Amino acid sequence: MSRFPLRTVALAGAAVCGLTGCTGAGGAEGDGLRVAVTSYPLEYVTEQVGGEHVTITNLTPPGGDSHGLEPTPQVVATLHEADVVVHLSGGMQPGVDDALAQQSPGHVVDAAGLADLPTDPHFWLDPVRLAALGGDVANGLADADPDHAVEYAQAADRLEGSLLALDQEYASALAPCRGATLVASHEAFGYLADRYGLRTVGITGLDPAVEPTPTRLRRAAEEVRESGARTVFFEAAAGPDVARTLADELGIASAVLHPVEKVQEGETYPGLMRANLAALERGLVCEG
Ligand SMILES: [Zn+2]
Repeated sequence: MSRFPLRTVALAGAAVCGLTGCTGAGGAEGDGLRVAVTSYPLEYVTEQVGGEHVTITNLTPPGGDSHGLEPTPQVVATLHEADVVVHLSGGMQPGVDDALAQQSPGHVVDAAGLADLPTDPHFWLDPVRLAALGGDVANGLADADPDHAVEYAQAADRLEGSLLALDQEYASALAPCRGATLVASHEAFGYLADRYGLRTVGITGLDPAVEPTPTRLRRAAEEVRESGARTVFFEAAAGPDVARTLADELGIASAVLHPVEKVQEGETYPGLMRANLAALERGLVCEG
């Protein structure tokens, strides 16, 4: 199993690669299915389920923003050359949706069915929802590569087991926090809040690149004050200024909560989610 991050290609752009000329170098090499994924959480699941039988290309480079992933010629070429594409339709990456609508590869796994809060794509922050994606990916890989169908199904079962264990850690650690308010700069934690009985107050909205208006900030400050929350959580990768300013104004703490989108080398889904749980236990107002 290997990854071919597109960082170099994305930075170099079309001038170096031509329209499709560099896909041989940056795309899939080696054995197995060529699988294109559009964000880190989808890569994590595909890696766990596909194991040594897949070569994954993540179209969001390490540290990149998966919101609004641009359909560059390189991205489009990788999508079209893939044996299997794992993506999330419905507005987070409209450029990818368009590219797939124009020329769909043979096997496409769309995670959209797991994201049912209106306009909120961040389903992977609920480990139970992410566990369900494992079975869908196993089916997609098996369609393209029936010889290894049993292995894909078994790997999806193992992944489900580990994600449901993570869910149990969350459920028991956050049980004393039911009803507490989770204040987050990037409004990414709706599914997590739903799963563990938290209320959310968002500051910047669903897309971290969109700055909140002064009116939105004033409303958020009021909501936080009324809720009795004692921490404003902000995203490590994004500028913490808005969250910090709000926290300072209200005289409460700020802490990092990772939306598991802009992931650096060495960071993993389980590792980031356990760090998030520790931050929530410290920062939420819980009983006992
Ligand atoms: Zn996000």
